[in-house]
Amino acid sequence: MINLADIRADFPILSRLVHGKPLVYLDNGATTQKPECVIDKIREIYCSVNANVHRGVHFLSQAATDEHEASRRTVQEFIGAASSNEIVFTRGTTEAINLIASSYCREFCKPGDEVIISAMEHHSNIVPWQLQATISGIKLRVLPISDEGELLLEELEKMISSRTKLIAITHVSNVLGTVTPIGKIIEIAHRYDVPVLVDAAQSVQHMAVDVQQIDCDFLVFSSHKIYGPTGIGVLYGKEKWLEKLPPYQGGGEMIASVSFEKTTFAALPFKFEAGTPDYVGSAALATALDYLSRIGLEKIARYEHDLLTYATEQLSTIDNLKIYGTASDKCSVISFLVEGIHHYDMGVLLDTMGIAVRTGHHCAEPLMRRLGVEGTVRASFAIYNTREEIDLLVNGIRRIVKMF
Ligand code: PMP
Repeated sequence: MINLADIRADFPILSRLVHGKPLVYLDNGATTQKPECVIDKIREIYCSVNANVHRGVHFLSQAATDEHEASRRTVQEFIGAASSNEIVFTRGTTEAINLIASSYCREFCKPGDEVIISAMEHHSNIVPWQLQATISGIKLRVLPISDEGELLLEELEKMISSRTKLIAITHVSNVLGTVTPIGKIIEIAHRYDVPVLVDAAQSVQHMAVDVQQIDCDFLVFSSHKIYGPTGIGVLYGKEKWLEKLPPYQGGGEMIASVSFEKTTFAALPFKFEAGTPDYVGSAALATALDYLSRIGLEKIARYEHDLLTYATEQLSTIDNLKIYGTASDKCSVISFLVEGIHHYDMGVLLDTMGIAVRTGHHCAEPLMRRLGVEGTVRASFAIYNTREEIDLLVNGIRRIVKMF
């Protein structure tokens, strides 16, 4: 069992008031709040270890380097990677996808080659490929979804051909909460020797994800959505792929040797980490991952699943409220609209009650078009949310419905 009181006490922001009301933070899909240990870690690094990494002979630089590389190993263990060489620190999910889109297409794609994504991707798993379409001439193919918000997996095999060079798919939809059958997708793709990139921005904080078990080729996520600091994220890539890919950005840290005639590149993972890395962020991210591991990802998944089920049941009791995304496997995200009430109005009025939800297109405009809506209201849950908070949300919506 999760000890909710203890967990809530770990998050200082949860005790603040918003508009004079206790904060009910249900916008965790956008970013999660930070436990005290993560906040403390940032202070600790600046107060006692701060120095640039990988290049100093002095004590502090060594200490900062040790901390940064230990953090890389924590990430490696957290996602079950075979080697810490497969863990590249980026600025976040978005940068990690841009990195792969840029390096992979440059190395492996020619005009007419195809990358398959799905109809429920975040813009950050659409636009980088479109940018590459203009540079490398690749074509984007889109795996459709059902009205329930599930991938039409039977279409996938029909879409794969000798032109297919990569499949890039979300693990959990940030709008619908759908958990995609990622293991099955990877199995199908590998039958055709097509690598798969998994956008795990909305999954790693909610369930145990083991990259070797699902056998993905690339996996990306953002620290700020998994209780860590903003500004850092992770690209996991199988060593065999990362070895073959050219660098993304050039600069210090990513080189073996530089002359005006020729530059050679550093070994993995540094080849992909140009410039001073966010060694404060990496340490704080590792602290967040350790925090989650101490609670236990299985326990977290079970608790959050209960919350989602409760929220779905309670919201369903409201007349004229429609939930978008009714997949059989869902996680921690619930999108809805109440007939006759604009999502923006709903969000603003809930805010006056201290309840933070997200409204709008959630960086998934093509999905909104597929659903036939302009936007939705989204409540997304984290380990510190409670049934009482869901009751407050439901009661809040009922009061708003009465106002209209
Ligand atoms: N993919 C998904 C599924 C997301 O939910 C998000 C963040 N909303 C991103 C990618 C982009 O993450 P970031 O902005 O942290 O790079």
